[in-house]
Amino acid sequence: MTRTITVSCPMDCFDLCRFQVTVTDNRITGIAGDPEHPLTRGVICPKGRDLVRRHSHPDRLQQPLVRRKSGFVRTSYTEVLDRVAATLTSVYDTSGPTGVLNYTSDGYGGVKNRIQSIFFNCLGGATRFSGSLCWGAGVAAQKYDFGDARGHLPHDAVTSDLVIVWGRNPKATNLHFYTLLKQVEKNSTRVIVIDPMQSDTAKSIGTHLAVKPGSDGALALAMAHVIIKENLYDRSFVQDHVMGFSRFCRHVEECEPETAAEITGLSSETIRDLAREYAGARAPGIWMGYGLQRYANGGNTVRSIDALAAVCGHVGKPGTGANYAARSLAPLLNRPEKNSLAHVTASRTFPAPMLGHFLQTVDNPPIAAAFVAGGNPLNQSPDLSAVVSGFDRIPFKVVFDHFLTDTARHADLVLPAATVFEQDDIFATSMYSHVLNYSQKAVEPPDTLMPESDFFLALSRHMGIDSLGFSTSREYLAQCAAPLLENLGKNPDTDLDALAGEYLRIPGHDIPWADKIFATPSQKIEIFSPTAQAAGQSPLPCYIPPSQGDNCFPLRLLTCKTQRSMHSQAFVFEDREPAVYVNQKTAQEMDICGLKRVCVATRQGKVTARLVVDEGVCDSTAFMHQGWWHKSGAVNFLTHAGLSDMGEQAAYYDTFCTLSPPEA
Ligand code: SF4
Repeated sequence: MTRTITVSCPMDCFDLCRFQVTVTDNRITGIAGDPEHPLTRGVICPKGRDLVRRHSHPDRLQQPLVRRKSGFVRTSYTEVLDRVAATLTSVYDTSGPTGVLNYTSDGYGGVKNRIQSIFFNCLGGATRFSGSLCWGAGVAAQKYDFGDARGHLPHDAVTSDLVIVWGRNPKATNLHFYTLLKQVEKNSTRVIVIDPMQSDTAKSIGTHLAVKPGSDGALALAMAHVIIKENLYDRSFVQDHVMGFSRFCRHVEECEPETAAEITGLSSETIRDLAREYAGARAPGIWMGYGLQRYANGGNTVRSIDALAAVCGHVGKPGTGANYAARSLAPLLNRPEKNSLAHVTASRTFPAPMLGHFLQTVDNPPIAAAFVAGGNPLNQSPDLSAVVSGFDRIPFKVVFDHFLTDTARHADLVLPAATVFEQDDIFATSMYSHVLNYSQKAVEPPDTLMPESDFFLALSRHMGIDSLGFSTSREYLAQCAAPLLENLGKNPDTDLDALAGEYLRIPGHDIPWADKIFATPSQKIEIFSPTAQAAGQSPLPCYIPPSQGDNCFPLRLLTCKTQRSMHSQAFVFEDREPAVYVNQKTAQEMDICGLKRVCVATRQGKVTARLVVDEGVCDSTAFMHQGWWHKSGAVNFLTHAGLSDMGEQAAYYDTFCTLSPPEA
């Protein structure tokens, strides 16, 4: 029998597409976009289509594996449950909760992903990471400025009369926003792309302004300088809705365009023109990406752009905004995890980008057991040599995944993860889409595979823990959805299944801050932020010059996402060496012209890569895609583990490298 089932894309992507999946006799025979979805309109990308291949690939894990002297061998869930329960009991008795590392990330974005953390909370707590590998500096910055990071409904961009895409490459990472930008341009609205690289987006849309890496904050503050000096700011908006405007005016007095020109590489005239154009536009929207905050100055960069929007009054109106994230739905789905915090007796955190250093030095207690799900930290964390050696020190490591990833290969137990097609779940992204996806189970998982949510329910029963707050994963989903359904005036007891046929979003969030009541303590935009000041930050956004290379490692190394993979996922099928891209000038300076392969070396490590000369790369810079596995040469063996100025964000782009002929 053939059926069509509604399934969400589970990936850590802006778009959160919804699929129509065709199933024949428990086999997936087709996947297409949902044409009724209000944001994605039936278009899905190759990564989404590839989910079917991953699901049915012969290398996919379908049974638990245990490490023996000879390597991994198959085992049963009976043995797994006995061993995990005995190990956890021993670790909690001897070391307490913080002897366990609970590492979950967003490789699978459904709310069931949180059951692992609920389990450890109910056990008494654990060690977890804080901060972010991805977007933390920008979120922290927007919390200081606006009180929260909220974004406009994406289609609002077509009402703008100017769109600035700042440090974002939607052609590669945000397909449906790219489609909207095409529509914007077709409407004769100007699009400006600010990016150090001539990215795929910059190559095909709008006017490209190539700033030097890490200099975006200097550009924003110089624009604010021009706007204030030329009286182009919105007097009544700043009077009513902005805190700290006078201090900000004094603060940017020295941010002359001539100075910013040297810092950014743009001419002072370009900076002045851009400032006038932005201030004079009726409804200009800024759409930031996450690349511009992956530097030690990343939080202040986003705060500077927020301040620019604030002084012009380009906030809270259709077509405007300093759009960075869209956190409207996700906070409403957290209730079960919040409730479980009452059981925590001890917890410990470390900044996510410092995983390697933490694992190498942690003591009192050391990590005795680690559980990893929804992530591949031995591929995605910076300074991988430190991460791998620290991870290998942990006596007992359990990893859930679909394939033997770089992290799974270092585990003691590898447990197969269910695919999105094999379970009901609820998906909401905080990045872009405002629309909830209720994802239905399309096929039964193999008999030999226990989905992670069922595993933790079975483990809690095995260990006599009756405090999770739900006894089935279905009951859990109902608890997650309840606050949302209540908020929307629906019946939480009866309307869960109806979510599959709906396109829910929260009313009043399409144009954030339309009521001009901000979520800060003053309810104004806090350009001068006492909260930032109390946290030891500059209360005003400031430009902190990014670090620079030296004679040994002169080139900045940018390691961005590729269009064809969500982080490391698609590289499972890739056996080639990675590529490194430089422009001709850099190739000449490094004396590598004509080479096909080079050694990319940093203070952290070396990787051999194919050399590609590409004039889209800025000077003194090497560019690589992140996600390549260890077998190819993972770029995070090269990256340095530093933190941004706020949000404990990984400052990946403060890594410097040299290029030389490959080692024999
Ligand atoms: S990866 Fe993103 S664009 Fe591609 S199908 Fe999934 S949600 Fe849509």
